[in-house]
Amino acid sequence: MHIFKPIKQIKASSEVGQQLKNAILGGEYRAGDKLPSERELIELFQVSRTVVREAIKSIEAGGLVEIRQGAMGGAFVKHLTFERLSDACNDLFMMGKLSLPELCQARMLIEPQVARMAARNCTPEQALALMEANSHENDSYAYPDTVALRSEVHYLLAEMAGNRFLEAIVKSLLILLRNQTIKFEPPTDEIHPLGLHGVIIDAVIANDEDKAEAEMFAHLEDFNIRLRKIECKYLDKQRSL
Ligand SMILES: [Zn+2]
Repeated sequence: MHIFKPIKQIKASSEVGQQLKNAILGGEYRAGDKLPSERELIELFQVSRTVVREAIKSIEAGGLVEIRQGAMGGAFVKHLTFERLSDACNDLFMMGKLSLPELCQARMLIEPQVARMAARNCTPEQALALMEANSHENDSYAYPDTVALRSEVHYLLAEMAGNRFLEAIVKSLLILLRNQTIKFEPPTDEIHPLGLHGVIIDAVIANDEDKAEAEMFAHLEDFNIRLRKIECKYLDKQRSL
């Protein structure tokens, strides 16, 4: 019987990448900060240029830093946001491991609860922000600006729920939905007519949790029907080309 186990060789670049990642996640480097230069990293880690480059590439792929070129360039720490979540899910869409109906179903389960939580928490400032966003929904007729304007209320409600994980899920759901439907180029007033958020906002501001939940559910049910119709129209058009 062997008493020795083979040694797992850890690649130097993984080790460097992991240390850089730990430093970023641990707050040693904040969003917007520049990581030490290639030359400094070679010195600090006592490794080759190739190793440093590989390590930087891996944390760039992980969405932690962005590389800027030029004299003032380097690896800059990115703001960590919910977008990392939607990026990961986008990849699943591309691989056919996630579908639009699944996205819509998840929304139906989550957003009515989020509206309920927002109604519980709504402060006067948040009430104002909601009314403000609602009044700007018609500021542009140009697609896809209209989508951004008419998603604003959904984003605000997600922030009001008071749970950052739920907020991240809702926001990435909205981004994914936009990414997946943008090819349909839906006329905004067909997919999300004006004035649908008024009843939800009123319920949230009145701290009426039941009504906020029910109105959001009804809104999403209606939206999903509209989305299916628009998708069918788009597919018909594709087939006739
Ligand atoms: Zn809406």
